[in-house]
Amino acid sequence: MTKIGVAVVGYGGMGGWHADRIGKMEKFTLAGVWDTDPARLVAARERGIRPYGSFEEVLADENVRLLVIATPNDVHKPLCIAAMRAGKNVISEKPVTLSVRDLDEMTAVAEETGMLFTVHQNRRWDDDYVTMRRIVEENRLGRVFRIESRVQGSRGIPGDWRKEKGHGGGMVFDWGVHLLDQALTMNDRNPLCSVYAHVTHITNDECDDGFYTELRFADGLTYMVEVTTNNFITLPRWYILGENGSAVIEDWDLNGKMTLVHDWDKIDSVPVKAGTGITKTMAPRTDETIHDEPLPKAHGGWEQYYGNIYDVLTSGAVQTVTHRQMRRCLKLIEAIFRSAETDSVIKFEEDD
Ligand code: NAD
Repeated sequence: MTKIGVAVVGYGGMGGWHADRIGKMEKFTLAGVWDTDPARLVAARERGIRPYGSFEEVLADENVRLLVIATPNDVHKPLCIAAMRAGKNVISEKPVTLSVRDLDEMTAVAEETGMLFTVHQNRRWDDDYVTMRRIVEENRLGRVFRIESRVQGSRGIPGDWRKEKGHGGGMVFDWGVHLLDQALTMNDRNPLCSVYAHVTHITNDECDDGFYTELRFADGLTYMVEVTTNNFITLPRWYILGENGSAVIEDWDLNGKMTLVHDWDKIDSVPVKAGTGITKTMAPRTDETIHDEPLPKAHGGWEQYYGNIYDVLTSGAVQTVTHRQMRRCLKLIEAIFRSAETDSVIKFEEDD
C-alpha cells in the first residue's frame, strides 16, 4: 500500500490532534510539523516528531504529498495557495478562509495546479449529527418541518486569536461553520431561500461571541442554528419536529428520545390550568395517543474523512467535502453577517 506523507502546519491544539491521528493511520505517515512558535517545535521534537526549520523546508520535502493547515483562520489562504503552487495537496482546517472572494482565489489555484484542496469539516461525521440525519432521512417523524441545532458554552470565546477579528475570530467562524455546514449538506439539493441572523457581543466587543440564525429552505423546512458562549443552563443539542412526532438529542453522547403520535385524530382533551387561565390547546397528549421510542443511534466514523482523502489521492475518487459546498457555506456566513448588520432577512441566491 502506498503511504501518503503528510506534514502538519500549525502544531497547536488542532494541529496536535491531526498529528496524533496521522501518526496512527496505516495509509498515512507523519513526515513532520512546522509552527512559527519555536516552543511548539520543541514540543514536537520531545514527542519524537520531526520539526521543520521553515515553511519552505516543508514545501521542499519530496516525502510530503499532503499538508494539513491548522493555523489561525486568517493565514489558511496564503499557506494553502503556497502549498498548492509548490505541488502539494492541502486540507485546510475550518473555516477554509474568511470570504467567498478569498475562497474563489484558492479554488482557482486548485484548478490550475490540479492539487486536492479541501477543508476539514469533521463534524459531518459526529454521531449526534448522523443520528439526526437518520431520523429525517428515514422519515421516522413523518415530514420534518423544523430543526433546531445548538451548541452552548459558558466561558466566552476561548484562547487568544479567536477573540481577534484580524485572525478571523468569533463564533460564526469557529463553531458556526460546523453547524452551518451540517445544515447545508443535509439539505444539499434543497435550495436555501432566506437567512435571518443576530450576533452577540456579551463578552467581546471585537468579535461575535455567539449568534443565532433562522434558515428557510425551499421545501418549507425552517432550520435554526444557535451558538452561544454565555449560557449556564444548556438546551438540547438537537430538537426536531415532524408531522407525526418530535425528537430530542440532548448531547454528543446521544441521550434523548423520539415521541411519536399513533392516533393523531384522538385530540379530545380536558382543559388544564395554565398560569392565570386554562387551556385545551396546550394540554399534554394522553398516553394512549403517543409513545416514546429510543433514538435510532448512528455512528459517524470520522476516519472516513481521511479515508476519502486517501482514495482521492490514490484512485481518483471524488472528494467528499467539495468546492461547491465550501463556497455555499462561506456564502451563508456572509449572509449571516449581512443580516445581523442590517437587521433584515437576506434572500439567498443558490449558484446552481
Ligand atoms: P492554536 O492557537 O492552538 O494553534 C495554532 C498554531 O498555529 C499555533 O501553535 C501557532 O503558533 C501556529 N501558527 C500561527 N501562524 C502560523 C503560521 N503562519 N505558520 C505556521 N504556524 C502558525 O489554534 P487551534 O485551536 O489549533 O486552531 C487551529 C485551526 O484549527 C483553526 O483554523 C481552527 O478553527 C481549527 N480547529 C478545528 C477544529 C475542528 O474540530 N475541525 C477544532 C479546533 C480548531
